[in-house]
Amino acid sequence: MASHLTLSDAVNRVEPSATIAVTTKAAELRRAGEDVIGLGAGEPDFDTPQHIKDAAIQAIHDGKTKYTPADGLPELKEAICAKFKRDNDLTYTPDQIHVAPGGKPVIYNAFVATLNDGDEVIIPAPYWVSYPAMAALCGGVPVFVSCGPNAQYKLTPEALEAAISPKTKWLVLNSPSNPTGAAYTKAELQALADVLLRYPQVWILTDDMYEHLVYDGFEYVTIAQVEPGLYDRTLTMNGVSKAYAMTGWRIGYAGGPASLIKVMRKVISQTTSNPSSISQYAAIAALNGPHDFLPERNAVFKQRRDFVVAELNQAEGLSCSTPEGAFYVYPSCAGAIGKTALSGKVIETDSDFAAELLQQEKVAVVMGEAFGLSPAFRISYATSTEALTKAMVRIQDFCKSLR
Ligand code: GLU
Repeated sequence: MASHLTLSDAVNRVEPSATIAVTTKAAELRRAGEDVIGLGAGEPDFDTPQHIKDAAIQAIHDGKTKYTPADGLPELKEAICAKFKRDNDLTYTPDQIHVAPGGKPVIYNAFVATLNDGDEVIIPAPYWVSYPAMAALCGGVPVFVSCGPNAQYKLTPEALEAAISPKTKWLVLNSPSNPTGAAYTKAELQALADVLLRYPQVWILTDDMYEHLVYDGFEYVTIAQVEPGLYDRTLTMNGVSKAYAMTGWRIGYAGGPASLIKVMRKVISQTTSNPSSISQYAAIAALNGPHDFLPERNAVFKQRRDFVVAELNQAEGLSCSTPEGAFYVYPSCAGAIGKTALSGKVIETDSDFAAELLQQEKVAVVMGEAFGLSPAFRISYATSTEALTKAMVRIQDFCKSLR
């Protein structure tokens, strides 16, 4: 007989990742023969560029298949320093760089190295599902600041100041945002920075994973670049997953103060150790290699964004604004709440909306409840135009069928 396993308080504080749950569910239904269109997965449908794959294959042939330093190869750290200089005008040296198996462990390593029980982490909502979960796993207390459509889904200086307490340890910024695609202008970041300069106990974790995915000539900037006065307490996090279509390769990285990077190195040396050596050589090729595929891919993403926003605004009860970047939109479904689906189920929440949409029309989206701002849902338009076209018809049919 199996003995009873008592779980940790930490794991009991969190739920499984909703983005991963929806993606997994859609894949399962598809495997079972259902005609499901998955708009849940937050990953580019493009392939990893050939020169990056070639570098990885070469690394295998060259026998570069052994351990590397736990927080990344020196050559990769050099490439990351060059990237920060080139794209963000930020000067980091290799001892200020942390490389981990994806963006998630970078954030987790920073939190586990710095959070004590009760320390507060300010998280603008809607947020990517894993920020509060990782803070809570590390004993932190997420403090949510609601940033709705009236604020263009962005944190305002007033709302930031109201959320800061003597217990605030971190502010999490994410621009362009998962799940809304909203991105901060230089002036907006400066206004936030002006508040932060008055609260030296607050550190800033900026998740810049979608940096290269911006449209309509939007000028991307990150907070340590906008306000050098915050450089010493900012962890600038990024990765190769989204821009280079390398989600499965698992390489995330960050630049920050050497004192913080040093303790994050201690954590990774005792937990995962280095990300795959092969993936690290691929990431070097990605960062140092040609970037001409980016504008081509962004043109496709922009076209899809415009199409999806226009179609969603044609659906009864939905309204959707046009975000600056990423490959997500976050339509409100307020007009569908209180209506009844064909199954007889009353749509009381956006989780009900997403569940009924999947059941009735076989379209998988992620419910707004998971991202902390309801009623809404997230669509990832990083999928073929053909699938998106079909999905938009189905969503419109679903909305029309509600009584
Ligand atoms: N960042 C992606 C998403 O939000 C990948 C899944 C995850 O790690 O959450 O869908």
